[in-house]
Amino acid sequence: MLVGGIVQGVGFRPYVFKLAESENLGGMVSNTSGGVLIEVQGPAKAVESFCNRLRSETPPLSRIDSLVTEDIPAVPECVHFTIEISRNTTGTNTIIPADIATCADCLADIREPGNRRFGYPFTNCTNCGPRWTIIDRIPYDRAFTSMAPFAMCPACRQEYDDPRHRRFHAQPNACPTCGPRIRLEYDGRLFDEDTALQETARLLAAGKIVAIKGLGGFHLAVDAFNQDAVVRLRRRKNREAKPLAVMTASLESACSLVHISNDESSQLQSSQAPIVLLEERIPGEPNKMASAVARNHRRLGVMLPYTPLHHLLFDHLQNHGLNTLVMTSGNSSDEPICLDNDDAREKLNRIADAFLLHDRAIVRRADDSVLQVLDNRPLFLRRSRGFAPIPIFVGGSGPDILAVGPELKNTICLLKSDRAFLSPHIGDLENLPAYDFFLETITTLQGVLECEPEIIAYDRHPGYLSSQWALKQKVAGKRLVPVQHHHAHLVAVMAEHQMKRPAIGLIMDGTGYGDDGTIWGGEIIAGDADSFTRLGHFEPVPLPGADAAIKAPWRTAVGYLRQAVGEEAVVDLLPESFGDKAVSAVLEMLQKEINSPLTSSCGRLFDAVAALTGRWSEAHYEAQAAMELMALTSLDEVRKAQALVEITLDPSLVLPTAPLVTAVATLVSQGADPQEISARFHRSLIDLLTQAATVAAQNSGLSDVVLAGGVFQNEILLTGLSDSLNRVGLNPRRPEQAPANDGSVALGQALIARAQAEN
Ligand code: ZN
Ligand code: ZN
Ligand code: FE
Repeated sequence: MLVGGIVQGVGFRPYVFKLAESENLGGMVSNTSGGVLIEVQGPAKAVESFCNRLRSETPPLSRIDSLVTEDIPAVPECVHFTIEISRNTTGTNTIIPADIATCADCLADIREPGNRRFGYPFTNCTNCGPRWTIIDRIPYDRAFTSMAPFAMCPACRQEYDDPRHRRFHAQPNACPTCGPRIRLEYDGRLFDEDTALQETARLLAAGKIVAIKGLGGFHLAVDAFNQDAVVRLRRRKNREAKPLAVMTASLESACSLVHISNDESSQLQSSQAPIVLLEERIPGEPNKMASAVARNHRRLGVMLPYTPLHHLLFDHLQNHGLNTLVMTSGNSSDEPICLDNDDAREKLNRIADAFLLHDRAIVRRADDSVLQVLDNRPLFLRRSRGFAPIPIFVGGSGPDILAVGPELKNTICLLKSDRAFLSPHIGDLENLPAYDFFLETITTLQGVLECEPEIIAYDRHPGYLSSQWALKQKVAGKRLVPVQHHHAHLVAVMAEHQMKRPAIGLIMDGTGYGDDGTIWGGEIIAGDADSFTRLGHFEPVPLPGADAAIKAPWRTAVGYLRQAVGEEAVVDLLPESFGDKAVSAVLEMLQKEINSPLTSSCGRLFDAVAALTGRWSEAHYEAQAAMELMALTSLDEVRKAQALVEITLDPSLVLPTAPLVTAVATLVSQGADPQEISARFHRSLIDLLTQAATVAAQNSGLSDVVLAGGVFQNEILLTGLSDSLNRVGLNPRRPEQAPANDGSVALGQALIARAQAEN
């Protein structure tokens, strides 16, 4: 039989071996280009039992997607079961495994005195350890990973060769005798593996910032309970306001910081070990977390240790009464996370006081993944380590496609038969190191998947660096398919749910290049991968200073309010805090139509409303105003709140912003607080978008409604709107495997390009 799915690099063959042995069957198992090939022979009953158990007892990290069986003649005297050397492990069905958090067995090994791996930070087995981040090329074999320089000692070799051992063919298998080593560099001194962790713990307890080489890059670590230390990290990293994530020793210590549901705890403890955004315990409870970690948010990003190094470090920290570290990516401001020791020493030396290093190279970058759990299902903010490059199964078939994604939060996607390989998070291409990483990811993804598509999908925005790269491939004879940004958002969600019929899309986004040359971002569209129609949108408003307004929401507020009440009235309605702003200069820009492109963006509407409350006149990071405005209210308050104004939509489906913005400014001038504004604004948006979806459904005859775009990282809007759509009999669908934000645009691009190539 031939088994397809996630069945390579996850201990599948040893599992088959043991299963066959337990049923006393002869035969063999082998990795092939088509999947895992199994041949068994023995009494019919045992064979049947083997087949049933194969489906029901699969190892935790594997997933069987297809199983084709066929009768073959018995081989005389074949009584033993063997694992055969892999043949042709490259090809269409190869799946590169993602990195896997330390398993319970390995954790027990490193904590058991007397075990030969006691205290060893690179312990792993077939069920856990590094994968994607150490793979140089396929087949996934030690010789082609960054473990190649470490020759296995006889003891490790024996485990590796023993099909009954949990380290059978564990490519990164290592021990203190033969494997990688850690060391700490601090203040011109070097601490070897005997003292490095102990000394690192001491430094962290003393409030020092330590750069720690991890799985997919460096982290910067600091005691999360030490306000001075966290403030120092922020200052040195030039990261003023954006929340920092923490790593905490265990589920128990996490419980003292945040509320954790069952689903959230399984995410935290999963083999992907993402950062999970969890609701903070109410102030006043015993929680001494430094306030500088994450201000003005309702949720704290928490992860658990996911490498042996992390676990051992926390064991040492315990001696100092410490159980929670800020663990933020080791980079300076917006650059990609540092990979190698020299790179880190050079780029992080002004930030970190000490460096905890090791000599196993990180071949591929993978940032920590970030998600939250809503209605028992994940909502990704960043899909990276642990998930990428495990493919998203999208169904269907057609030509291979490379999709190069948008400009911000870039990921790329390689679509191969029914699998979409979405790359790890790449970042904002406007900075050069991220662009280099983008180029590198295209090469490596095509390399490891052994596929160089003839068709390249890119965003219609001519200025995006990803689009410009794509356009340059024309000389190489590639076929190029431009894709509208919000169409891609719609199709990304349809693809992961394998939706077959066209759907309505409520795409609430920051910015995206519209088919009419204006900036879209609050779109009501309908369609599928073949095509889409724009049914409606937010009323376009001029954005003074274009992209500059994104960092200065007060400018956006002036633009929206002027549009709503006119040139004369606007000044009187602006909040007092705008007194020190160059309001008249902005008004002049608007009046003369200088650098003030029209936008229907929902993200900008959030900015305008937030700034009109008098707070958030500047944004220190993307979507700060919108996220902090949301954090002021709750779904409960929003449900009880009164809409700002009653709006009845006309069939043209142009959603007016003027009544909303005017109502907000008026309420603020009457002394309403931002909390009330936030609740009532969310209420209004939910009502308005429900109405819009209802009209769109009537006009189009469709009932599936896709919610996508960066604005839907807003859990109140997402949950409130989903509930509301359900109540009016529509069927809301939201992203679950890929992010709502631009991290999933490449996925949509790929499917659209394939559909167009086939037409
Ligand atoms: Zn393990
Ligand atoms: Zn060894
Ligand atoms: Fe977008």
